[in-house]
Amino acid sequence: MKNEKLSEAISTLGLYEFRRMLTYKEAFYGTKVELVDRWIPSSKTCSKCGSVQSMTLSERVYICGAGCGHKMCRDLNAAINLNNAPNHKIRAASAKLTPTDRLGADSPGRSRKQTPKSSGYAI
Ligand SMILES: [Zn+2]
Repeated sequence: MKNEKLSEAISTLGLYEFRRMLTYKEAFYGTKVELVDRWIPSSKTCSKCGSVQSMTLSERVYICGAGCGHKMCRDLNAAINLNNAPNHKIRAASAKLTPTDRLGADSPGRSRKQTPKSSGYAI
């Protein structure tokens, strides 16, 4: 993030807590917090022509490999793609965790991959 103080505050807080605070304040400020499917390749998709290409995290400028000539800051390109995400990939955020959230990487104490825990009953 460009604002280092904000970036540090968010990383200290954790993304889940940041989201919880945003949803908590949305009624107060009259805003709407929405979540976009985490698997949308927002930073790897050309916001001009829609082609998807692989990129390393160290590549900070998006240069479309499909030949449309699009060149843009990677983060801005991703922000445009998130803003234009299809409706079926967007849902309203809730201050409470949903079962889907419990499997997510931004949930506290969770990693991206989860394996179902044993119910304690033998089959
Ligand atoms: Zn392109």
